[in-house]
Amino acid sequence: MIVRGSELLIKAKKDGYAVPAFNVDNLESVLGVLNATSILSKPIIIQTIPRTLKYGGIATYSSLVKANYKGGADIAIHLDHGGDLQVCRDCIDAGYTSVMIDGSMLEFDKNVQLTKQVVDMAHASGVCVEAELGTIGGKEETEGQIKYTEVDEAVKFVELTGVDSLAIGVGTAHGVYKGTPHIAIDRIKEIADVVDIPLVLHGASGLSDEVIRNCIKAGISKINFATHLRQAFTKGLKEGLVSKEATYDPKTYLPYAIKAVQDVAMGIIKLCQPD
Ligand SMILES: [Zn+2]
Repeated sequence: MIVRGSELLIKAKKDGYAVPAFNVDNLESVLGVLNATSILSKPIIIQTIPRTLKYGGIATYSSLVKANYKGGADIAIHLDHGGDLQVCRDCIDAGYTSVMIDGSMLEFDKNVQLTKQVVDMAHASGVCVEAELGTIGGKEETEGQIKYTEVDEAVKFVELTGVDSLAIGVGTAHGVYKGTPHIAIDRIKEIADVVDIPLVLHGASGLSDEVIRNCIKAGISKINFATHLRQAFTKGLKEGLVSKEATYDPKTYLPYAIKAVQDVAMGIIKLCQPD
């Protein structure tokens, strides 16, 4: 079934594994991750960032997922890094079962205010909310500028907002890492010890398997993977174009990209959920 994201995360937290959340861009990446969850019978979250929604249309991705989901393990459809109340509302109307509101760049009080607004709106529609506190590195920040999530602020934030899951800043970054990232595993544990809701790790493409396992052990219940999947899609597509050089029908070379996404997603699912 397609369920609320929090249902998957609460179960993962209780049983000590993480649900991988895959950022999709098109039909082929949706098919790749759906094949992976169906073969392994393990839950996943399929998510899109607002930039993807702008590229493909807000109703497109939930329709692609719903039309191609064949049952088996439960999944959720999630908005990643929603920037305002409206995009969260639009995704809920389009059938998303989970949304993220990212107010992490705001002052603490403003982040609380925005998150609370989205929580009230989403809960009224039966949809759960992920928020972010602290910063996750990206294109602009260097490692020294990443703000780790403070333990006491996390407790206060969850209490004040009633949010369902929380993305924390512990040294990860989006995109491709330039050097070896230093992840504050202890900080994850400190927060998990005092915060009841599931914790989320962003920017996991490029972390070693060992670091990812340690993050899960320390208390992470959802891990986002975007870059790995995009790299797999592009590599698979290039291979398909070379192998089927004589053809002009996309349906002959795009399956290479689907298979490449599927293989990477299967590896990630196994890593997040050891038997
Ligand atoms: Zn992120």
